Amino acid sequence: GTARSFFSMTEPEVSGADPTELRTTAVLDGDEWVIDGHKWFSSSAEGAAFGIVMAVTDPDAPPHRRLSQILVPTDTPGYELIRPIPVMGHAGRGWSTHCEVRYTDVRVPRENVLGEPGDGFRIAQKRLGPGRIHHVMRWLGQMQRAFELMCAYALEREVGGAPLAEKQTVQNWIADSAAEIQACRLLTLDAAHKLDDGDEARVEVSLIKFYAARVLNEVIDRAIQVHGARGLTDETPLGFMYGQARGARIYDGPDEVHKQVVSRRILKEFREGGVYTFD
Ligand SMILES: Cc1cc2nc3c(=O)[nH]c(=O)nc-3n(C[C@H](O)[C@H](O)[C@H](O)COP(=O)(O)OP(=O)(O)OC[C@H]3O[C@@H](n4cnc5c(N)ncnc54)[C@H](O)[C@@H]3O)c2cc1C
Repeated sequence: GTARSFFSMTEPEVSGADPTELRTTAVLDGDEWVIDGHKWFSSSAEGAAFGIVMAVTDPDAPPHRRLSQILVPTDTPGYELIRPIPVMGHAGRGWSTHCEVRYTDVRVPRENVLGEPGDGFRIAQKRLGPGRIHHVMRWLGQMQRAFELMCAYALEREVGGAPLAEKQTVQNWIADSAAEIQACRLLTLDAAHKLDDGDEARVEVSLIKFYAARVLNEVIDRAIQVHGARGLTDETPLGFMYGQARGARIYDGPDEVHKQVVSRRILKEFREGGVYTFD
């Protein structure tokens, strides 16, 4: 089909890293949910057929049972796309937008809730593991591209009568990048295998999310440095890639949150008298 969706969770007024504080509400009125709230960074909302909106359906429930995911067709009265937010200088178009959206007395049928009311977190967790691996797969492609551009230019560009490739600093960047990209590939495969085996792989997914986001940024940064001023121009894709890569350390959980997940799980093993084994 041609219908696109978007995921509408993050709000400008409260922390997205801690979604227990979300303010958008959905209240049952007869057989309809009535949704009110303000979101931003609803990626791909422009041109989408419907949004998956995270809303508080039971404010008195334990924090992880308060939220539900509700489908909202974008032609529903009260749904308003305020603007695509310019991000790093680009407002994007259609699929590539990150939109500010308002829901005012938006009414949708009761059956538009995904799963049961209160399942919002559970569904998000289920989606986020494989979703994060997908991000890293895309990043691996970007890393590879930046790496190839760096190596090719290091051989081509002469400084002081010799190719840049003969400078030890550049050799270090190439070697470090090669090791880190390969580490990302193997960490991704490891996490993917564990997910395939039915494991939640929380540690493995968080490890690869923050580590690959850092490697992505560093490899592109090194490639730009090797290119000098040309690396910042539109003669190579590196400048654009650099702008896109920065968000990787924030979306689907900032670095700090994933590091917290990893260290908490590891420390739990030690606290209980065990050790953490790498398998
Ligand atoms: C390109 C892009 C696309 C996005 N797409 C979507 C989308 O489609 N749908 C959607 O709903 N949202 C989307 N988001 C939003 C994203 O999920 C949030 O930005 C993210 O969850 C962080 O929330 P926040 O921006 O409110 O930062 P906050 O939660 O306010 O955090 C700010 C900073 O505080 C620090 N911090 C937070 N928690 C901790 C902690 N526990 N320990 C230490 N430090 C911490 C981190 O450095 C963090 O960057 C997107 C964001 C970006 C950049």
